[in-house]
Amino acid sequence: MNKILKICVPLLLFSVCGNLPAEEFVHWYDAYVILKVPRYKLRRFPIPYKRVRCKRKCILRVERRHWKEVKDRLSYVEVVKEPAFKDIFPEYWKTRKLSLGYKSYRRVVRWLIWFRRKHPRHVRLLRVGKSWKGRTIWALRLFRGRYKSKPNIYINAAHHGNEVLSIEYALDVAQFLVQNTETYERSLRKKEKRNISEKAKLAYDLLEKYNVYVVPVINSDGLERFWTVSYTEGRKNARKQRRYQRKKFGVDLNRNYPFMWNSGIEKASSDDPNSPYYRGKKPASEPETKAIIRFAKKYSFVFSVSFHTYATKILIPYTINGLKNPVPDYPTYIAERIVKAGISYREEKEFKAVKQLYPVDGTDQDWLFHTFGTLAYIYEGSHQNPPWRVAKKSIHGMRLMMIETWKVLLDYPVAIFRTKPSTVWKPSKLLLQEKESWRTNPKGIGYFFPALLYEKYFEVYFPEEKKTVKLFCFHSYCKEHINK
Ligand SMILES: [Zn+2]
Repeated sequence: MNKILKICVPLLLFSVCGNLPAEEFVHWYDAYVILKVPRYKLRRFPIPYKRVRCKRKCILRVERRHWKEVKDRLSYVEVVKEPAFKDIFPEYWKTRKLSLGYKSYRRVVRWLIWFRRKHPRHVRLLRVGKSWKGRTIWALRLFRGRYKSKPNIYINAAHHGNEVLSIEYALDVAQFLVQNTETYERSLRKKEKRNISEKAKLAYDLLEKYNVYVVPVINSDGLERFWTVSYTEGRKNARKQRRYQRKKFGVDLNRNYPFMWNSGIEKASSDDPNSPYYRGKKPASEPETKAIIRFAKKYSFVFSVSFHTYATKILIPYTINGLKNPVPDYPTYIAERIVKAGISYREEKEFKAVKQLYPVDGTDQDWLFHTFGTLAYIYEGSHQNPPWRVAKKSIHGMRLMMIETWKVLLDYPVAIFRTKPSTVWKPSKLLLQEKESWRTNPKGIGYFFPALLYEKYFEVYFPEEKKTVKLFCFHSYCKEHINK
């Protein structure tokens, strides 16, 4: 195994070596030991190493197979127990090409600016808010033509900053949609109708109908800790826990959303600040969560995907125990269709759609579903930060699933409320039997994911007339309830 790694690692970027066994590319970085050695002792250092960086002491990377030798021969050596991700893979850290390798926060920002410049007609860069340490949370708006009158889709990643592969999924979404839309537009201009690829048409159609908002890094502070402090950290944000050990940081942002926060379900989240699932002192206590809540209220998304790694699953709302979905259960029905398209590239594990991975509360997914009627999923990718060569496969597998997602979004017509073909109603609020009260944005554009409205009675609030009406809806067609 170590031999393979030794040959592979310098060549990873060129993808020439064979397959690694499945279990090896999870925590591949354990293949190395990171040492701290005084500079003057380097000259006669007896073991092959890679120099990461030097000040008075040097950080070295040594393969784990030499570990015994290190222990036997060197008494002065200091082992860095939980090194930062950038120290294990200086090759990635130093590469100047933005398309290669995982990205730190700064590299993501550079990528976003580059992407915005390259596609001025379809991309805008927006500020969503700030992290606990003041880093900006960025969003991309992907659009075509007039965006104000279209329903919005929300894609996000890295609620957990240590899941760097999830960021790549999100950036791939942006790249796929924009590049293919431009390809399609080019062929329209040239009037070539024959050679248009299916995916170019798909991307074009999607941006014709929806706007897509991509937030590639929610937990930017966590991401920074993962890169620069330790690869075992970065799941949570950077909130300091004063009363506890100084080393322990943060709140798990995906337990901090206000819906069913601290539900009392066992192990769904933790009140212990040292736990990786710490939910925070109160619902939406964190600046990152607050920023996203503001963002969602502004755009009231009809559909959302939250990228995580690496359970190889689609999680269906409600993912929390014991809550009933609207009937018929379209979220499950749709997820089961989408999941078939994904390829995990792991022999032992295929993608599956499930209601729950383990007990959770306070997630963004359930909050979005309950508050806005956003059809909100978590897509758990197939690997935990594997070597880049494997990551590229994983991104491809996820892209296939996203293509199916776009197809679903195009198959279901956008729900606007009609009583007769000529009148379009713009409700701002739907009341469901399960006590959800789904809201559209303040201006009341009135979009809801149509599948969720199937054969249902709703109370609908119309802001302009200031009245509530009871409606019966069949997909996107609604009529007033008879005994009103
Ligand atoms: Zn996660």
